[in-house]
Amino acid sequence: MKRPFNFSAGPAVLPLEVLKKAQAEFLSVSDTGLSVLEISHRSKAFAHIIEEAESRLRRLLAIPSNYHVLFLQGGASLQFSMLGLNFFKARAAYVDCGAWAEKALKEAKKIALSSDKIVDVLWSGKVEGYSYMPAELPYEELSSQTDYLHLTSNETIQGVAIPRDYARQHTPVFCDMSSDILSRPVDVSQYDLIYAGAQKNMGPAGVTVVILKDTLLAQTNAGVPTMLDYRTHVEKASLYNTPPVFSIYMLNLVCQWLEAQGGLTAMHAQNLKQSNMLYRLLDQYSDFYQGHARPDSRSLMNITFTLPNAELEKAFLAEAEQHQLMSLKGHRSVGGIRASLYNACPDEAVIALADFMQAFYQQHH
Ligand code: PMP
Repeated sequence: MKRPFNFSAGPAVLPLEVLKKAQAEFLSVSDTGLSVLEISHRSKAFAHIIEEAESRLRRLLAIPSNYHVLFLQGGASLQFSMLGLNFFKARAAYVDCGAWAEKALKEAKKIALSSDKIVDVLWSGKVEGYSYMPAELPYEELSSQTDYLHLTSNETIQGVAIPRDYARQHTPVFCDMSSDILSRPVDVSQYDLIYAGAQKNMGPAGVTVVILKDTLLAQTNAGVPTMLDYRTHVEKASLYNTPPVFSIYMLNLVCQWLEAQGGLTAMHAQNLKQSNMLYRLLDQYSDFYQGHARPDSRSLMNITFTLPNAELEKAFLAEAEQHQLMSLKGHRSVGGIRASLYNACPDEAVIALADFMQAFYQQHH
C-alpha cells in the first residue's frame, strides 16, 4: 500500500526507514531475543539505547557538556508547570507569541495566584492574532528581578516563528522548542533550559526532552514534589522511575537517521527549500491563499493559510484527501489550512501539495 502524504502537526510523519528498522527489530532488540517493550529499563540493552539517544542529541545540537539532557514524561505541557515550580521565585517574564506561549503563561499565572509572585508579559502578539513575532524584544522593560524569560521558538498553531535568535540577556532564558527542535542548528549556550515534546521532529509521543544548564539546578525552589523536581531526573539520569522506553528507543533511531541525512544544517536547508515551495505559492496567489504569518515570521515547520471562504476550504481539504494529501486542516482555534513540514516530510510530498494548490487555484479562483 502506498503511504499517503502526511502533513499532520503532531504526532507527525516519521522517516520510513526508521519505521522499517523498528519493525525489523520489534521482536528482538540488540540481539536480546526480546522486544524493546519487554525488557527492563535497567537492563544493559536499554542502558545502551538511552545513552546512545543522549549522545546523538548532544552531537546533533552540539550541546555543551555543562548541560544535562533529560527524557521526561507529561509532554511539553507538563514543562509549562514544571519549570515554574522549580525556578519561579519572585518574577517571571513571558513572550506571548501564540497559542502555546499563552498556555505556558497561564501556568505561570496559576503559580503566582496564591502568592505575591509577579508574571510580566514582555511582549504579546495576541491582539494581532499572533501573526508575527518581534525581531527584537523590549529588554529595557525586563525587570532585573526576573527569574527567567520564557520563549516559544515556533508556534505550531499559528505558524509563526522567531525571525532569528534573540540576543542573550543576563536573565535565564527558557524556550519551548517543541515544534522546531532539530529543524536547524541552535546555539544551546544562548539558553538555560530548552524543552520539547518528541512527537514532531524527534519521534513518537510519550517522551519530552529537556536540556538544562547545570548551574540552574542550584536555584531550584524548595518543596517541589520529587517527580517534578529536575534534580531527581538529573541525579538518576532519567531513570528515577520507568521511562517511556519505546519513545526513547524511537527517538534514538530518528536521531540516527538525522545524522545520516547530514545533521541539522542539512535539515535546515531542506526545511527552507520545502517551506519556500509553499510560501512562494501564497505570495503568487495572495488573492486566494492568505498566509497567516507575516513574511518575516514565517514558520518553516507549519505553513498556515486561509482560502476566501469556508466552502472553498472544505472543498480544498476534501480534494486534497483524494490526492492522498492528508491532515491539512488547520487547528480548530484558527481554522483554514495548515501544512506541517517536519524533518521527515519528503520533498515528494511538498511537490505534490504545491502541484495540487496550483491546480486548485486555477480551478477555483
Ligand atoms: N508547545 C508547542 C509549541 C506545541 O506545539 C505543543 C504540542 N502541539 C505543546 C507545547 C504541547 O505539547 P504536548 O502535547 O507534548 O504536551
